[in-house]
Amino acid sequence: MEKTILNKKIILIFFILFYTNELFAGNNFIKSEIRQGELRLYFSSDIEGVKYFSLPSKDGSTKYVYDIEGATLPSGKGISQHSYKNIDSFRIAQNSANKLRIVIKSPQKALDKHAYKNNMLFIPLKYGKKASIDGITIENISYKKPYISTTNRKKYIVVIDAGHGGKDNGASYKNRTEKKIVLSIAKKVKRILQKDGLKVYMTRDSDRFVKLPKRTEFANKKMANIFVSIHANAAPTKKTAKIFNGIEIYYLSKAHSKRAKEAAEKENSVMFENKDLYTKNDYLSLLNREKIIESHKLGLDIDNKILSNIRKKYKVSNGGVKSANFWVLVGAQMPAILVETGYISHPREGKNLLSSTYQSLLAKGIAEGIERYLKNTRR
Ligand SMILES: [Zn+2]
Repeated sequence: MEKTILNKKIILIFFILFYTNELFAGNNFIKSEIRQGELRLYFSSDIEGVKYFSLPSKDGSTKYVYDIEGATLPSGKGISQHSYKNIDSFRIAQNSANKLRIVIKSPQKALDKHAYKNNMLFIPLKYGKKASIDGITIENISYKKPYISTTNRKKYIVVIDAGHGGKDNGASYKNRTEKKIVLSIAKKVKRILQKDGLKVYMTRDSDRFVKLPKRTEFANKKMANIFVSIHANAAPTKKTAKIFNGIEIYYLSKAHSKRAKEAAEKENSVMFENKDLYTKNDYLSLLNREKIIESHKLGLDIDNKILSNIRKKYKVSNGGVKSANFWVLVGAQMPAILVETGYISHPREGKNLLSSTYQSLLAKGIAEGIERYLKNTRR
C-alpha cells in the first residue's frame, strides 16, 4: 500500500518536472561502437525518428546534430571516448525529456548519409559514405525559394491539398465528413485560381487516400510557389461542440499553443498508422526562419481574405494564424499553410460548411489570399 502511494508521488513529481509522460516510454541508449568507418548506436527499443541538421562552428568546422526522438540517456553512458580521423569530437546529451542529442564535430563538409533501422542508428564518419544498413535515411532538406525564379515563369504554380480521403475520413460529425467538405472547397479554389491564370495542381481530386509525405513531395516536384492544405476541424468533446468554431490557419513552426497542438494531433494521427511513413523528412532543418516568416505572411493574407469574403453573408469568428507541427507541412520547400475551415461539430458552422454558397466564399477567400500574397512577394 505505502509503496503504491510512494510510487504515485514519484510519478507525480516526474510529471511536474517534465510536463510529459513520454519519459516513461523511454528508449534507452545502450552502447556505441565505431565499425567500418561509422558510428553505430544501439537502443533498447525501436527508434521513433531522427532529426538532423548541421551548424557552423566558430573554428570553421561543422557540428552535425542528430536528435533522437523518445530516447533517453542512462547516467554514466556517453560517446566521448571515441576518436576517429577527421572527427573533432563525439558528444551525446539529454536535450529534453524526450529527445537525445548527438553532436559530431568535424571539418568535413557533410555527414548526411546516416540511416536508422529498428533499434540501430548508423552514422558514417566519412563524407559521401553511405550507412551500411538499409534503413530509413534522413535527408537534410534545405529551403529553396521557388518564387524568386517566377520572373522567368509565365505562371505561378499553386498546389492545393484537400485533407484526408479514401480510408481516412478526417473529422466526422453527424452527416458531415471532413474529407468530402474539404475536397469540394479545394476544387472551388482550383477553379478560381485557374480562371485568374495560375497553374493549379491538386494532391487529390477524388475520394482517394494519399499519404502525408506524398503531398508535399508532389508540391516539391511540381516546383510549386505555394502549398495550401485544406481541412475542417471538430471539437474534442460533445461539451465543446457548441463552443469551438471559427477559421484557424496554421504554419509549421516549433512554438505552439494547446489548441494548435490538439489540432495537429488530430490531423497527424493518420501519420502514425505506419511508422515508416515519416521517412526522409528532416523536420528541424525545415524550421528555417525565412520559410516560417513567408508561411506566416501567406497565412495572414488568406485569413484576412477568408474573413472578409464570408462576412459579406455569414457570421464567422477568427481563430487567427498560429504555428503548429503538422506533418503534412513538413517537407514543403515553399511557403506552406494549413487552413482549418471551421468546426463541423458546431451547430451553425457545421451546417454552413455543407452549404455551397459558404464553401464558395471560403474558396474565394483562400484564392484571393494566395493571389494577394503572390502579388506582394513578386520580385
Ligand atoms: Zn483534417
